[in-house]
Amino acid sequence: MPDGDGDGELEARLVEQETFEPPEEFVEQANVSDESIYEEFEADWPRSWTRAADLLDWETEYSQVLDESNGPFYEWFADGTLNASYNCVDRHVENGDKNRVAIKWEGEHGETRTYTYQDLYREVNEFAATLRDLGVEEDDVVTLYMPMVPELPIAMLACARIGAPHSVVFAGFSADALATRMNSADSRYLVTCDGYYRRGDPLDHLAKANEGLEGVDHGVDATVVVDRLGDDGFGHDLKGNQHDWDDLLDDHQGDRIDPVERDAEDMLFLMYTSGTTGEPKGVKHTTGGYLAYTTWTSHAVLDLKPEDTYWCSADIGWITGHSYIVYGPLSLGTTTVMYEGTPDYPERDRLWEIVEKYAVDVFYTAPTAIRAFMKWGSAYPKRHDLSSLRLLGTVGEPINPRAWKWYYKHIGDEACPIVDTWWQTETGGMMVTTLPGVGTMKPGSAGPPLPGIDAKVVDTAGEEVEAGRAGYLTVEKPWPGMLRTLYQNDERFVQEYWQEYSDPDADEWVYFPEDGAKIDDDGYITILGRVDDVLNVSGHRLGTMEIESAIVGVEGVAEAAVVGGEHEVKGEAVYAYVILEDGYEGTEEMREAIIEGVEDGIGPIARPEQVIFTPELPKTRSGKIMRRLLEEIANGEELGDTTTLRNPDIVTEIQGKVQR
Ligand code: ATP
Ligand code: MG
Repeated sequence: MPDGDGDGELEARLVEQETFEPPEEFVEQANVSDESIYEEFEADWPRSWTRAADLLDWETEYSQVLDESNGPFYEWFADGTLNASYNCVDRHVENGDKNRVAIKWEGEHGETRTYTYQDLYREVNEFAATLRDLGVEEDDVVTLYMPMVPELPIAMLACARIGAPHSVVFAGFSADALATRMNSADSRYLVTCDGYYRRGDPLDHLAKANEGLEGVDHGVDATVVVDRLGDDGFGHDLKGNQHDWDDLLDDHQGDRIDPVERDAEDMLFLMYTSGTTGEPKGVKHTTGGYLAYTTWTSHAVLDLKPEDTYWCSADIGWITGHSYIVYGPLSLGTTTVMYEGTPDYPERDRLWEIVEKYAVDVFYTAPTAIRAFMKWGSAYPKRHDLSSLRLLGTVGEPINPRAWKWYYKHIGDEACPIVDTWWQTETGGMMVTTLPGVGTMKPGSAGPPLPGIDAKVVDTAGEEVEAGRAGYLTVEKPWPGMLRTLYQNDERFVQEYWQEYSDPDADEWVYFPEDGAKIDDDGYITILGRVDDVLNVSGHRLGTMEIESAIVGVEGVAEAAVVGGEHEVKGEAVYAYVILEDGYEGTEEMREAIIEGVEDGIGPIARPEQVIFTPELPKTRSGKIMRRLLEEIANGEELGDTTTLRNPDIVTEIQGKVQR
């Protein structure tokens, strides 16, 4: 047994507690604290969505909230016009808040940059003028292949200002991924960066960008390169149509560009999904609906106020960063924190150091990060004063109750509500979660659908399932933040999301997110994971998430991934890959405790065939476990592509541990 200071341990009191109420103090100050909001939305749907739209400044007011005439190609606030950059920047400057901090940036080495709304206004304008000068016109797609530097949100907002949709490609992606996305979007402009720091070392990002550019089929008109590394740079010479960001900005000092009036339904950006499954899909989001939705959910769920300092530790290269580092928080005039580096550099308390330093009020992260913190132990957060925190959030995958409670106790000091927010790239913003000032929290269960969101759990025939039974998550009514189509591929859009449960002849459209879920008597939804992550063991259908949740409930287990391996008798057998907390070892007792945990939690049918202890799991750069690989390992198959992995070395190590 560990000595207790590295503890993932929780007192029995917390282990047993199944529901949690938001603290009084929180409720009193919450943006939304009256549960009547659910009924209000239902009673006056879709007009209730004006609440979201009212949080924005419109150039032309819309006359119709929702146009349903051409489902599933819905339109929101369609005849309204507005500009996203105006809403995220100018209006705060005009309202007398120009000296409030918009962006607090922290580099990996601890250097900081602070942008007030006035600073942001100046730089966004100057870069918008730059883009125009380089030939970018309204509706041209500008690709942003950038790490977590302030120039990234500045470039996004500059694009929005001139009506040029951006397509951000996560900096950790390969040269090929960049080329594929630029080709797919027919994008002729690139903004990138010379490099950035990872665990103290400079990375040569421009070499990768240049390699990617070689794979672009059409001409590229201009590339802008941010100088992040200075003297640590790799000495690349800029080519003919490549320009230095600072030089261009110098040339445009003092320039002001009027925000372009955009139709609500005009594209704000394109975002390719991370591609844990299949071909990347170009998800199209719009100016009016998306901005209204992210602003509304930032207000209602993240409870953001202009005077808050808020930190979402995701990368802007993912939808979470788009919606909840950039658009939502800036639209509300909040201070948003950006951090360049990793959570364990120089030490495992880096995030808590930042929370203390900036007195962060609201913190939003992913369960995979929380499980890492838990593995490292509570000594790290204990080093810092985290009492500024008011609210915590998670997104990206289900959070098991033990990790939830660890987060609640060791980060939130049992004084902060936690919002477990289910949503996707495609939904634009949060869809299923408690409202922190209203609802009871149930660790492990995301919560009820947000007001106005018509999410249900159904069986294969589309009938709602009984409480407690597993089924498929669907959304029956449209919502403002929804994707409008897949870029230049309406057919695939309908096929991917609207095929399964819709009745086109009756003009009834049901969105299918491809996640499994169950619902309880109170209407709380527990997400079970992707529908393709279901095992068939001796004719029983088992969700991998449920088994994983049982395993991580065992004391000493930090993280688990379950996949199916072929089995002569059972059809499929459960293979469990397990990471232990520091201080625990992969002994026979541990193995038995895990098997027992699964048998108790789900039943003997789910008993793992093999328990494989490993120090890490193969993860994509967005932090999602690559199950396909684990399956291939379980089946002793040749391994497919491993280039998108963050930690490719772990694969051979795991292979050596599976018994054949
Ligand atoms: P791709 O669609 O390209 O395969 P992806 O689905 O991983 O990639 P995202 O849109 O970033 O890309 O992730 C959305 C998915 O993440 C959801 O469909 C769901 O499976 C999971 N997810 C997100 N938030 C939660 C949550 N709070 N609880 C459970 N699962 C979640
Ligand atoms: Mg997905």
